[in-house]
Amino acid sequence: KQQKVQKEKVYDTQCPYCSMQCKMQLIEQTVVSRKSYKTIGKDNPTSEGRLCIKGMNAHQHALHQDRIKQPLVKINDQFVPVSWSEALEKIRKSFTDIQKTDGLDAVSVYGSASITNEEAYLLGKFARVGLQTKHIDYNGRLCMGAAATGANQTFGIDRGFTNTVHEIPHTRCIILAGTNIAECQPTIMPYFEKAKENGAYIIAIDPRETATTKIADLHLKNKPGSDVALANGLLKIIIEKNLLDEGFINTRTTGFEEVKDLVSSLELKEIAELTGVSEDQISQAASAFGQEESGMIFTARGIEQQLDGTNAVRCFLNILLATGKIGKPYSGYGAVTGQGNGQGAREHGQKSDQLPGYRSIENPEHRSYIADVWGIEEKDLPRKGVSAYEMFEKIDENEITGMFIMCSNPVVSNPNANFVKAALKKLKSLVVVDMFMSETAKLADIVLPASSYLEDEGTMTNVEGRVMLREASYPMPGEVRNDWKIICDIASVLGKEQYFTYTSAEEIFEELRLASRGGRADYYGITYDRLRKEQGILWPCPDTTDKGTERLFEESFAHDDGKAKMFATSNKSDIPKPIQSEKFPLLLTTGRVMSHYLTGEQTRKSPSLAARNIEAFMEIHPDTGKTYGLKENELVQIESQQGVIIVRCVWSNTIRKDTVFVPFHWTETQNVNRLVSNELDPHCKMPGFKVSAVKVSAVTS
Ligand code: SF4
Repeated sequence: KQQKVQKEKVYDTQCPYCSMQCKMQLIEQTVVSRKSYKTIGKDNPTSEGRLCIKGMNAHQHALHQDRIKQPLVKINDQFVPVSWSEALEKIRKSFTDIQKTDGLDAVSVYGSASITNEEAYLLGKFARVGLQTKHIDYNGRLCMGAAATGANQTFGIDRGFTNTVHEIPHTRCIILAGTNIAECQPTIMPYFEKAKENGAYIIAIDPRETATTKIADLHLKNKPGSDVALANGLLKIIIEKNLLDEGFINTRTTGFEEVKDLVSSLELKEIAELTGVSEDQISQAASAFGQEESGMIFTARGIEQQLDGTNAVRCFLNILLATGKIGKPYSGYGAVTGQGNGQGAREHGQKSDQLPGYRSIENPEHRSYIADVWGIEEKDLPRKGVSAYEMFEKIDENEITGMFIMCSNPVVSNPNANFVKAALKKLKSLVVVDMFMSETAKLADIVLPASSYLEDEGTMTNVEGRVMLREASYPMPGEVRNDWKIICDIASVLGKEQYFTYTSAEEIFEELRLASRGGRADYYGITYDRLRKEQGILWPCPDTTDKGTERLFEESFAHDDGKAKMFATSNKSDIPKPIQSEKFPLLLTTGRVMSHYLTGEQTRKSPSLAARNIEAFMEIHPDTGKTYGLKENELVQIESQQGVIIVRCVWSNTIRKDTVFVPFHWTETQNVNRLVSNELDPHCKMPGFKVSAVKVSAVTS
């Protein structure tokens, strides 16, 4: 017989996982002193009350018994619990000693796109003012780097979506380039399904069939690494068929003639060979997109996490600009952000080359403005440091000897992961803030307990560029502190308390507003009061009377001349790419599955999610698998120039025969990032996760 619920508590919160940032409620029920939990969706403008399987089970990791609940210090290879004051004193001593002997820049900071805007802002200030180091970067470099750089260079501003999600159902043609939204951002899918119901023609670009490509009218199953060529091919046909918007090109863009000359000189036959997509299919896709009155292009990691990812983004944006499909209803661009605060975390100064408000660290005016906000001299503001992966190279070269890592797991998420792990082991001092003993935390000298999404107040900026307030709702376990408080506490013991006197996340946000004012990501008009009443505001919002910006670029682009820039990019750039060889005959591409998030540190703690995908796997076409002596469901060894992993072999009749796929949510010998090379996109320093040359063999013992 069902027992009566004696007490029910409801906690309003926001999903900690992907960039949709779905609003939700944790329901805690008590029956005879036993508590049970469930999470349900809550209405909001972006996800409209929907949740996916990850959101429904997010409380399982937040309430997990393995949470780190007090500071830990490693003594004789064992972690020992200590008080906060003891841990902070050890951090003070180790970072101060390193900076005295090795220089200020020897201590580095590695941040995250899963933390709040306030924490991202504070971490940037902590590095530059608290530690006075130039070395700060974050894991978003590995995620959104190419989209951010491509959009900034083309439009002069980088907000993931140029339109709200509510325009998607009304557009006439959609290109989904390297994005598996059905698994990565499931609650956005109904907008695309509605578009299809309304008659939109959907084109998917992906080397394999996914839950997303299934809704497409046309699936261009291109060879990994051929996206620049494919986009150039599409534009070539659009030009040949005279599907251009010449008025738009002439008045709103620069650079078209160079692009036209370049793509017109390309041979379609050669593009078909490079991409593995037939000439007919390229023509069909180009005609469909070019002839419709409205259209949208969405890109994601599939085309961006490549050594020419920035070029690929710019080439797809060329198509939008040439057809005039931006800055007007139902037409625009969407970079589908992966991480929870992938948008906001890249706007407030966590990047090595950037100050808050998307200001440049090299621009004298920008430097002076931020120095004023921070109450320091411009000359004391450090210069540009190196990017996320390059910090590990600096460790190897003994230029960086101390590191502070907040809410990130670089040992698993970086390319050349064996090298990254070895580099972290070389540090004189490694301090990690995390909720769990991740593979990275295990290497630390000091681990500080991070708060979960249920306990941590702050704003997050979702996939649309909508700033949303996530109030802290649940009590913190043990001695856990808010991440922003941890940053302030460390700054205080380093003697910089006068710059970090905040008593709440809202106080930090008030300073962030000012720091962003007049910048490219202007949050000045957004306040906590407004966010409580308005359910999120889209930036730019320069004034408290401004309702926020739903559609970008209606009048002008953000470059000084008001025009968008088109970039001509050859199909054969001089960027070195992994290529198939006799030794490494297959192309490896990586990605995600619906039940896991990033390195899996949180989702693997959730029994309901872990059960859906308990281990890593490799998808391979059965014909290819049999050629290499593989058997379905047995173990396979995958080897690249960088390393070796062993995972389960899964047949897929729909993947290209020259390609294998492995998701990246697992660690150690199942960590596919061990196979990815250390080469970086020269424009944005993004690693080439989506293309590696590998060989496969059966594991026989
Ligand atoms: Fe929403 Fe993304 Fe969380 Fe799923 S993972 S509930 S889509 S925020």
